[in-house]
Amino acid sequence: MKIYISADMEGVTGVTHWDEVDHDKSEYGQFQKQMSLEVAAACEGALDANAKEIWVKDAHYSGRNILAGTLPKGVKLIRGWSGHPYSMVQELDDSFDALMMVGYHSRAGQGGNPLAHTLSSSKLDFITINDRQISEFFLHGNIAAKHGVPVVFLSGDVGLCEEVQEVSPGTATVATMVGVGNSTISIHPLDALKAIRGKVKSALSGELSDCLWDHPKSFIVHIGFNKQQLAYRASHYPGANLIDPKTIAFTTNDYDQVMQLILFVV
Ligand SMILES: [Zn+2]
Repeated sequence: MKIYISADMEGVTGVTHWDEVDHDKSEYGQFQKQMSLEVAAACEGALDANAKEIWVKDAHYSGRNILAGTLPKGVKLIRGWSGHPYSMVQELDDSFDALMMVGYHSRAGQGGNPLAHTLSSSKLDFITINDRQISEFFLHGNIAAKHGVPVVFLSGDVGLCEEVQEVSPGTATVATMVGVGNSTISIHPLDALKAIRGKVKSALSGELSDCLWDHPKSFIVHIGFNKQQLAYRASHYPGANLIDPKTIAFTTNDYDQVMQLILFVV
């Protein structure tokens, strides 16, 4: 089995404030360590299930967070951002048997996490694909679907785990915390590691095809910006149309073009 793990930080156990996910702030270190340990636990669970090859994408902020020495030997780690449209799942293709996500978070506008957001919260009001408000989980899960790769496991906040159950009921989840207003209520960090390792092992030992998504034949994307200037500029992307002063629409049959649009206009 060849496994891909995409790791973010805002859904790592206990993360409650932006300072805790910002490498310029003193609080960052303890959560950098917990993120690294949660990714390592997912790798160990995959090895318990006899995975032969594991790729990890560090997909938070600079893409340079995970302490590589905490990961089991043999794991390949992708650091930084290549500029490829696949972004948080760079290098994912049909050679992989499963996609897993660790430390993921609720989408913009949801109450499940004080740090809920989707991509760049400073520019965007919303993105919908086929009328569904997207999270980073949904956006990147559809890349896996295009390549026939099942989304087998996710850890993150309770709000996101509820979305996963709705979108992809076969996917195993570990809820690390629940957001209440500007606070979080978390499980113990060691309990999170144990749960992640155990659930990953059992998920990869089960029927992976239960976690394969239907991939629609066409995609209608709406992007709402928080400034009309940004929408006007984005409306000049080939194939995009301005449908109101702050919103563009884009239609395609190829999901790669959705990711290309987002790379260039968001
Ligand atoms: Zn992040």
